This record gives sequence, C-alpha cells and structure tokens, in this order.
Amino acid sequence: EVGESLNFIEHIVEEDLRNGYTKAELRFRFPPEPNGYLHIGHASSICLNFGLGLRYNAPVNLRFDDTNPAKEEQEYVDAIKKDVEWLGYTWDTERYASDYFQQLYDWAVLLIKEGKAYVDSQSSEEMAKQKGTPTEAGIDSPFRNRTVEENLTLFEGMRRGDYEEGTHVLRAKIDMKSSNMLMRDPIMYRVLHKSHHRTNTDWCIYPMYDWTHGESDYIEQVSHSLCTLEFAMHRELYDWFLDQVTDPKKLRPKQREFARRNLSHTVVSKRKLLQLVEQNAVNGWDDPRMPTISGLRRRGFTPESIKNFVNTIGIAKRENLIDVSLLEFHAREHLNKIAPRVMGVLNPLKLVILNYEGEEEWLEAENNPEDETAGFRKVPFSRELYIEQEDFKEEANRKFFRLKLGGEVRLKNGYIIKAESCTKDTEGNILEVLCTYDPKSKSGSGTEESLRKVKGTLHWVSIKHAVEAEVRLYDRLFTDESPDTHKDKDFMEFINPESLKVITGYLEPSLKSAQVGDRVQFQRLGYFCVDPDTTSEKLVFNRTVGLRDVWAK
Ligand code: ATP
Ligand code: MG
Ligand code: MG
Repeated sequence: EVGESLNFIEHIVEEDLRNGYTKAELRFRFPPEPNGYLHIGHASSICLNFGLGLRYNAPVNLRFDDTNPAKEEQEYVDAIKKDVEWLGYTWDTERYASDYFQQLYDWAVLLIKEGKAYVDSQSSEEMAKQKGTPTEAGIDSPFRNRTVEENLTLFEGMRRGDYEEGTHVLRAKIDMKSSNMLMRDPIMYRVLHKSHHRTNTDWCIYPMYDWTHGESDYIEQVSHSLCTLEFAMHRELYDWFLDQVTDPKKLRPKQREFARRNLSHTVVSKRKLLQLVEQNAVNGWDDPRMPTISGLRRRGFTPESIKNFVNTIGIAKRENLIDVSLLEFHAREHLNKIAPRVMGVLNPLKLVILNYEGEEEWLEAENNPEDETAGFRKVPFSRELYIEQEDFKEEANRKFFRLKLGGEVRLKNGYIIKAESCTKDTEGNILEVLCTYDPKSKSGSGTEESLRKVKGTLHWVSIKHAVEAEVRLYDRLFTDESPDTHKDKDFMEFINPESLKVITGYLEPSLKSAQVGDRVQFQRLGYFCVDPDTTSEKLVFNRTVGLRDVWAK
C-alpha cells in the first residue's frame, strides 16, 4: 500500500508492533452504550476500530456498555447491530459489560479486602463538597477509614438490596489530593433498584463507567481501547483500576484518545437526538433529517458514501466542525455512479404538442451514462406532458437555456419542441404551454434533425402515463451551524421550521415497480430513494440530496 498515509492511532499500533506486541495480540472493540441510535459521529469510531481490525486481520468485538439500566433498552441494542452490519462490518463476538457484573463484583470485594475501596454513606451533595477544586485538595470522607469487615458487610448488603438508592456507594480509595479530580476516590458502584434489559432484577447495584470499561477491555484482552478525547483525564483512573487486577502474564489494554467528530447544522449526541424524538421535532430516530445512521439510510445515503466521508475527514487529535455539505458531496459522488436516471416532475406545468398526432410512443432512455451495464428502458411520450414550471418563461434573456415563447429546447430522450403560445387564468398565471415539435428530431434516430444542437434539454413526463408519488423534500434540521454551542440559547430554538416539505410528484411509469430503499436520480433534480412508508397504493420518495450543493457560496 504505497503512499498510503496512516492516521495517528495506526502509528501508535505500528509502534507497539515494533516494540514487542505481536499481530496476534491485537484486538479492538466498538463500545456503544445502548441508550440511543448510532449517529454519524459513531461512524467515525466504527470505521476506526473495524478499519484497524481489517488492516491487521485482528478481531473486533461489539461491546455494549450497558451499565445504566435507567437509559438502556433492547430496541437500541437491535438498532445498533443493524447499523453496524449495514455499514458493512462484521464483529468477532458480541459482548455486554453486563456479562461481567459478577466478575466486577468479585474484583470489588478484592479491592475492599486490600483496603483499596470503601463504602461511603454520605449524600452525593456532601461528597461533591468534599471533592475540592483542581487547585484545592479534597477532604477525606468520615467513612474513609471504615474497617474491611464493615465495608464488606455494607457492600454485601448493598448487593442484596437492603438499602435504598442514594444511601451508600462504593468508592475506590485513591487520593483526595490528586491534581486529577477523577482520582479523588471515584465512585465504583451505586444502588439502583432498576430492572436491566439483560440481567433483569439480578442486580440492584450497578458499576460506574470507569470501573467497568477498562476491566471489560482486560477481560476481552483488547489491546487498544480507543475512545474520544473527553476521556483523556480518565486514562489515569483506567490504568489504576487495571493495576488492581492485571495478571502480568496477560495482555494489558491501553486507552488512547481521538477527537469527537461534529457535523454542522445538526447535533451528534444521543441525549439531544432523544430529545428531538421525544418532543416530536422529528418522526423518530430514523427520520431522514436525523444525523443517525438509520436516518441517513432512510434518506438514501449509501454505506460507501458514509465510509468515504469518514475516511476523508480522517482521525484527528482536536475537535472541529465538519460541514455537512462534505457528507452530501460523498453521497452525490457515489449515487452518481450507481443510481439509475429517471424522469419526474415536481412542479408541473402542462405542455401540449399541437402537431403531435399519435396516441403515444415509447422512447428509448439510457439508465445510467456512468454505468455501461445499466442498460436502457422505455419511457412513454404523448401529446400532453408535464414540464417544471421553472423551465418555462414567456420572455427571458439569452442566458435562460430553457423554454421561452418562440424558443426551442430538446425534451430529454425525445424531440425538439418550440413554444408557440401559452394560456393563462384571469390572474395571469400560466395554465399551459402550446408547442409544436419536429417529428424528425427524435433522439438517437440518426437523422440530421436529431443531431441538431439546441441550447436546453428539459425533463418531462407524459401526463396520462404519469405515476403520482408523495415526495419529501428535506432541508437542514437546524438553521444554525452549531446549534448546541450557544451559551444563551437552547439548541431546540434553532430548529428549521422548513426542514420538511411534502409535495406531489409526477413520475415516469417505470417507477411503479420501485421497491423500498431503491435509489434513483430524478434527472436535473437530485437523488431520491423510496421511503418505507410506501404502500401498494402510494409511492413515497425522499430527496437524498440535490444535484449541486445549493448551500455552497
Ligand atoms: P453520545 O453523547 O452521542 O451518547 P457517547 O460517546 O456517549 O456519545 P457511546 O455509545 O458511548 O456514545 O459511543 C461509542 C463509541 O463511539 C465511543 O468510543 C465514543 O467515544 C465514540 N463516539 C461517540 N460519539 C462520537 C463522535 N461524535 N465522534 C467520534 N466518536 C464518537
Ligand atoms: Mg459513552
Ligand atoms: Mg453518552
């Protein structure tokens, strides 16, 4: 792979391989918390971890970080698995932090016995007050020096369910003077009388993230535990917890951090996305306006376009904002190669070809000029057609390469027509355009007239053959570039009231048989895909992206 550049995480792995790790020791994991659907930020983490797995032929676990039963659900587990698979990745084993609850408990007992953990019976407010500040040492809890016996008895009682929530916690006894606030006797367990989606009511104490994550990595023998930058300060604690349990003969995982990815004009946080769902700002997690993987899929994005986007932005050491137009660029680029071309009219204007005498005829149309294997189809032509309202003006300057009175255009795959006149209602709105056509100018017929160049080519549909469809046009979900970074305003205040527009489109009849998920290019309009709301009675299309970036300056 000459000339290929490695990201800084890959450099770390390469260096470890030079310094004694064997390839067989490499193992990675993608560790989502099942408290929401995956979003485009997660795609970066997925591509990083699974990409490393592919590069080094190393196993990658899918590990559900399911330690907070208050927020986690089976629905989210299922959605996450579907999304990772759809992106094209295969995990080695499916793991759950909850599988390790007993092991974690046993290790916690060990820590108590070694005098390295104690039960604190203060309120969380009291504990917070004693934490101190980064420049001011914390104060020891009055329970810090409980005896091992007392701690064991209390912790067993916590586990049995003898105590209410908030009465006791288990804390690691580390250092209340540490300059790293996370090292000031962090909580390892809290009482939670909540049923868990996998362990049901087996447990009424649940381990905290820091206590769980590193130990889970160790149990699975993950070599490189990659997480986002906000965990950089947690690394010291991650290492401290590992020090307590690591067998020197076994591999010791290492945590390394990379920057979270943020996308413009949206929010990438499950908590905020849940808020959008719960407050009905969108129609569910897979609403095509959502930056979730399921939303992007429903919108018509391909896995390839998402992966190309993620690989283009790469892995960074600093956070920054990526413009959503880059994601759209990658959608366009891939869809251009794979999406069959079809014709559909979204703002119809009736056009009558006065000198067309036939009933109808079927014209040959190329499915995809970018793909030789895509073949041809037939589209019906008749005397009455729809064109787009924007494609006709009574008068226009020379730069208007569409139809104007006295002017000519070619109808895509069909004939050259000339606008002779138009009819209007009493308010002056144009009702129909009356044209004549040149019968010898049929595209592909090889005649001199068929080769004649005219300035514009329009898409169209035959009115009597047209299939009506509901067409959903999307715009940015937020009017602001970074809606959740304002100090004085909530991100919900920036919701774009015009992010969804539903119209009726008139489509060529080949689309009658379109299946949910099919992606097409409506010529001159953009890329569209068939929405799952489609029934045998009604076709529903989503616009994935327009043909050009209308937001570019
Ligand atoms: P959220 O705030 O959306 O819940 P999270 O980090 O809590 O994000 P997890 O389910 O814990 O979500 O994430 C699984 C993995 O994906 C973690 O390793 C996390 O660091 C990574 N990840 C989450 N969001 C992003 C992002 N925006 N960019 C890159 N990686 C991310
Ligand atoms: Mg997390
Ligand atoms: Mg989270």
